This record gives sequence, structure tokens and C-alpha cells, in this order.
Amino acid sequence: PDALHGAVVLVTGGASGIGGAIVDAVLAHGGKAVVWDLRAPPGMRADVHAAQVDVSDAGAVAAAARALPEAFRPTHLVNNAGIIGKRMPLAEMEAEEIDRVLSVNLKSVLYCTRAYLGARAPHPHASIVNLSSIAARTGGMPGNALYATTKGAIAALTRASAKELAPGIRVNALAPGIIDTPIQQDSLGDRAKLAEIARVIPLQRVGGPEEVAQAALWLLSGASAYVTATIIDVAGGR
Ligand code: NAD
Repeated sequence: PDALHGAVVLVTGGASGIGGAIVDAVLAHGGKAVVWDLRAPPGMRADVHAAQVDVSDAGAVAAAARALPEAFRPTHLVNNAGIIGKRMPLAEMEAEEIDRVLSVNLKSVLYCTRAYLGARAPHPHASIVNLSSIAARTGGMPGNALYATTKGAIAALTRASAKELAPGIRVNALAPGIIDTPIQQDSLGDRAKLAEIARVIPLQRVGGPEEVAQAALWLLSGASAYVTATIIDVAGGR
């Protein structure tokens, strides 16, 4: 229950889905959380400092870091904010959409990692968890090449960051499969589609955000003290 005692975990995109479940897990295990999201997280909680921040905007991220109260200087970081983007064949790829998806999914990780390194408070188990996806290896759903590209880049960035920040800070990533969150509901349209996809997953169901949060919790805690530069699938065997 005290796995994250003394930890302040900065969670980008922490107002919804997987990020929201990670915030819940952090609080349930004795930690505090900072949420940077476009929208406000549901409900006010004493152990949460929330700010409306567009993590794809370098200036906004730097300003949010400067505005952190002393008690919420982060010890840990979860780079979770992300979007799937418009479904587009390669032949019709729009330059604006390329910029948007690369900025929100990938540049944000660079901006937030830099901000965390500048603002962080020391902790014996300091660590960063990035959100990749199994799409980094499968190429993702047809029409989502940009998404898969950013998630592959996050896997590479995770390994590069782990080397550079060792031994003081561990860096790992999670590669979820299909998790039942608003991002999927927007992308797949309806729940019947989710049920159809579940049939090709060995565990025969889509995952829940709290199941990804449990893996994040392990990576954030001292229980994974000798684990860095890894990417862990949470994908039901897919
Ligand atoms: P979600 O849409 O439920 O949550 C994403 C959150 O990020 C939202 O609260 C949103 O407001 C926030 N966000 C989006 N753009 C932002 C920006 N520019 N600045 C700040 N916040 C922003 O999605 P989710 O399913 O919880 O996804 C979380 C992460 O997990 C994403 O990186 C996603 O790619 C990854 N992932 C999800 C799945 C899945 O099946 N759900 C699978 C693999 C990877």
C-alpha cells in the first residue's frame, strides 16, 4: 500500500483513460500526483495538483513546470498524453496532421522529460514511464501510420533516455494492446467493434485502463529497481 510513499508522479494526459487510472493507482499507494492535461481531471483531490497544459506546446510545458508548487516537485514522470489522429492513407497525408500527431505524441515526451529533469525532486526510485503501444511493432490499424510511427519513436527514445539518465533515473515504457478507454471508443466507433477485436486476442477480451496502471505502478516503484530500458507489453498476448 506504501509502494509510492514520498513519490510525486507527474502524469500527462492524467484526466482520462490510462492516465486517470495511473493517477488513481499512485494515490492508492501513498503517492501524490501532478496532472497536466488539456482538460481538468474529474473531482478535486488534496494529493493532486492539476493544471491545464497543452503538452505539445514547448512554452506551455516550461511555464507549467515553473508554476509547480514546491510540494509538487515531481520525483517521477509518466509521459501518457496521446492521440490517434485522423485516419489517413499515406497518399493523402496532410502536413498539418503530421505536425499535430508528432507534436502531441512525440515532441511532448521530449518537452515533458526536459521539464521533469529541470524541476524534479530527488527520490531513491526516480523513474520515467513512457506510453508506447504494440502498434510500434504491428504498424497499427490501417490508416494510423502516424500513430504507429510516434509509438515506435517512443520505444527508441525510451532506450536512449534510459542509457543517458542511468544510474539515477530508470526509464521504461509500456506497450498496451487494445485498452477500453475514450481513445479507442473514438477510433473504433462502437462497442460491437471492440467485441469483434477481442476475439483475436489470446486472452479473449480488451484490457482495462487499471490493468495498464498496475504495470505502471510496478515500473514506478522500487519493486522494479533493476529494470530499465525495457518495454513491457500489456496486451493480453496479442
Ligand atoms: P484517452 O483519450 O482516454 O486519454 C488521453 C488523455 O490525454 C486525455 O485526457 C486528453 O485530454 C489528453 N491529451 C491529449 N492531447 C493532449 C495535449 N496536447 N496536452 C495535454 N493532454 C492531452 O486515451 P488513453 O487510451 O488513456 O491513452 C493514453 C496513452 O496510452 C496514449 O499515449 C495512447 O497512445 C496510449 N495507448 C492507448 C491504447 C488504448 O488502447 N487505449 C493502446 C496503446 C497505447
